[in-house]
Amino acid sequence: MSDPKHYDYIVLGAGIVGLSIARELIKREPDAQLLVIEKEDQLGRHASGRNSGVLHSGIYYPEGSLKAKVCRAGAKLMADYCDEYNLPIQHVGKVVVPIREEDDPQVDLLYRRAQANGVHIELIDDKSLKKIEPEARTASGRALYSPDTAIVESLTILNHIKQQLVDHGVLFRYSSRCSNADSERSVVHCDGGSSFGYGHLYNATGAYADRIAKMFGVGTQYTLIPFKGSYYKLRPDADVAIRGLVYPVPNLDVPFLGVHSVKNIKGDTYFGPSAMPALGREHYRGLEGLNISEVVRISWYLLGQLRYNKQGFRKLLREESARMSKSGFASAARNLIPRVKDGMLETCDKVGIRPQLLDTDKRELVMDFLVEGKGNTTHVLNAISPAFTSAFSFADLVVSTSSGHADGF
Ligand SMILES: Cc1cc2nc3c(=O)[nH]c(=O)nc-3n(C[C@H](O)[C@H](O)[C@H](O)COP(=O)(O)OP(=O)(O)OC[C@H]3O[C@@H](n4cnc5c(N)ncnc54)[C@H](O)[C@@H]3O)c2cc1C
Repeated sequence: MSDPKHYDYIVLGAGIVGLSIARELIKREPDAQLLVIEKEDQLGRHASGRNSGVLHSGIYYPEGSLKAKVCRAGAKLMADYCDEYNLPIQHVGKVVVPIREEDDPQVDLLYRRAQANGVHIELIDDKSLKKIEPEARTASGRALYSPDTAIVESLTILNHIKQQLVDHGVLFRYSSRCSNADSERSVVHCDGGSSFGYGHLYNATGAYADRIAKMFGVGTQYTLIPFKGSYYKLRPDADVAIRGLVYPVPNLDVPFLGVHSVKNIKGDTYFGPSAMPALGREHYRGLEGLNISEVVRISWYLLGQLRYNKQGFRKLLREESARMSKSGFASAARNLIPRVKDGMLETCDKVGIRPQLLDTDKRELVMDFLVEGKGNTTHVLNAISPAFTSAFSFADLVVSTSSGHADGF
């Protein structure tokens, strides 16, 4: 059997993380032979093309976490990138409001975190909130304001990065699912029988990252559980004008930010995303993306989480179940914007899946980004939000660490 074609680097997955890693590699080594392998026939079919499009400023993340390390810098790099290439970006700002009186102490906690992370944040009272976002409500009379939070067009950014990579000689192989690996020979195999050799391999396969990592004996204590993020659209004729983004003070025990208002570049407003466990890694709607073995695997872990109730899992599920109906969703929106009525929301096809890593030893959802390496392979195992925002600085850290130029994660 002849040797498969060899590349200096192979990146698995052409989401924002894979593309940003490829961009970082080619910046450092313009002559490197680089192949990106993507199972879909186009970009943005999964999380990177289905997100809220918010460049987070870095308020939420505890000091010392990877998210804290890369979010603020990543947001700036991504915003500069949009400015440099004239890609749509709007600095709409964001308010974070306590929706219950008892959430008020979290306002101080987030304020301290934001300051520790070097994020521009303002602690505001009800009067200032009304000036910034007249329709928003705070349960305690206080809120946070992040003027730097911006919105972008995720798909436009993905396509722009890809085109730059192509122009720099990076090869893309679409409709090519990596299905197996021979780590001793440094070869990956794809569906259809093609194989490729690598000097170093980066696994950035999002919802499948745990599966690919295990082919290399990496991340054996982890498994990915999908959470579905659905949205409702605010009817264009609704008599409620939301200027920027309105978020609740989140439950900091879980890695989700709670139902919030989102605006896109065209000016449409959505409420979402929910965070309901899904039964397949691509279970976007109906029975789509389901297979029996995955349903059994995911159900098994979900039942375990319910049984041990770590991180208040039962409460999360109770709250999410209440949002499965339109009226439940509207009620979550009313916590932020009291004048929203059920009839102002319409169903829409905007939906994404957040693949969330579960540590099966600790029985906990992993809160931070997680990257593990073995030999000449690096695996991005928990590229959850704000991985879109952070992608450029995260990729810098991933590549620096894997090439021995940084201390690690
Ligand atoms: C509803 C929702 C809202 C969000 N909102 C925000 C936000 O506002 N701001 C923010 O910063 N982040 C947000 N996020 C998070 C952000 O979108 C993700 O963290 C980020 O897109 C992850 O990027 P990725 O490249 O790891 O994954 P993906 O975009 O899923 O890319 C992985 C790629 O790997 C490919 N792949 C998988 N398996 C294989 C295989 N075996 N072989 C080859 N290719 C494979 C997939 O087809 C896919 O294209 C949100 C996410 C969701 C779901």
